[in-house]
Amino acid sequence: MSRTNVEVDDLVAAARGGSPRAVARLISLVEDASPRLREVMSALRPHVGHAHVIGLTGAPGVGKSTTTNALVRELRAAGKRVGVLAVDPSSPFSGGALLGDRIRMSDHATDAGVYIRSMASRGHLGGLAWSTPQAIRVLDGAGFDVVLVETVGVGQSEVEIAGLADTTLVLLAPGMGDGIQAAKAGILEIGDVYVVNKADRDGAAKVRRELRSMLTLAARPEGAWRPPVVAIAAQSHTDLDKLTAAIEEHRAWLDDSGTLRQRRIRRAREEVEAIAVAALRSRWEPQGGGRLDELAAAVAAGESDPYAAADALLG
Ligand code: GDP
Repeated sequence: MSRTNVEVDDLVAAARGGSPRAVARLISLVEDASPRLREVMSALRPHVGHAHVIGLTGAPGVGKSTTTNALVRELRAAGKRVGVLAVDPSSPFSGGALLGDRIRMSDHATDAGVYIRSMASRGHLGGLAWSTPQAIRVLDGAGFDVVLVETVGVGQSEVEIAGLADTTLVLLAPGMGDGIQAAKAGILEIGDVYVVNKADRDGAAKVRRELRSMLTLAARPEGAWRPPVVAIAAQSHTDLDKLTAAIEEHRAWLDDSGTLRQRRIRRAREEVEAIAVAALRSRWEPQGGGRLDELAAAVAAGESDPYAAADALLG
């Protein structure tokens, strides 16, 4: 066994043993698109598939950070180890969203049962579409019972990270454009549980009503999951138990209906595809895309056609 292999095995063992440093190092390998990831994923393989992956999304200001914090508290009280990934697919070059940092500073800073990380793509290899599922895999393999993936900016990105979750929570709040905004962003299709946050504020009941009636109108096949609407006030930790109950109910439905398996196949498909596409791209982009630029210039100048250029790129 090579030295690298031994190191990776040690790192995985340490992560599974609860070392936040080891988890951090493994996720950094993902962010850096390290060549060692091949070994990491192989070492993690026997340990993955246990975590419940929960996606959490909604417009900025709706209370994602506050809700995550409250949800982590609730899950910790139930004895679960929780990993949180904060990703911002709309600004992959930001070098880490503020969200995770804000949570990190708060209640859970000294709790070894919670690991919180902001994800940056560092602008390569298909960005967060490539790195997020692998980071989820790291946390799953490290033994976290729940992996919360927070995303910013529903429907604005080509990266639908919501599609990676077993259970997707969509957050709304009063005073934010409400129902009409919701319909526009296409969120009626992606939520498994709808959360109306800031229930302490005027207008929350109206958001809830509008959302309920829109969800009722949406056509769903027989036996399909009917997404509940749960009202909470994350800031005062009000009704978080109702939210965890709705999440548990969805999880049970996923198991019973066979949907969990389908969703995990879908997630694995994304992973395999992203890795394969990155491998292809690395054939022509070892130094930053010069060959593609050259071929594109030839196509634009009418000296080549796109099929011939693509053949040349892959050849
Ligand atoms: P994010 O941008 O979606 O992560 O939203 P934040 O969690 O940062 O919350 C945005 C603002 O809403 C902050 O000022 C929070 O204090 C506030 N907020 C969050 N939850 C509640 C709540 O339940 N009630 C009220 N009134 N305000 C809240």
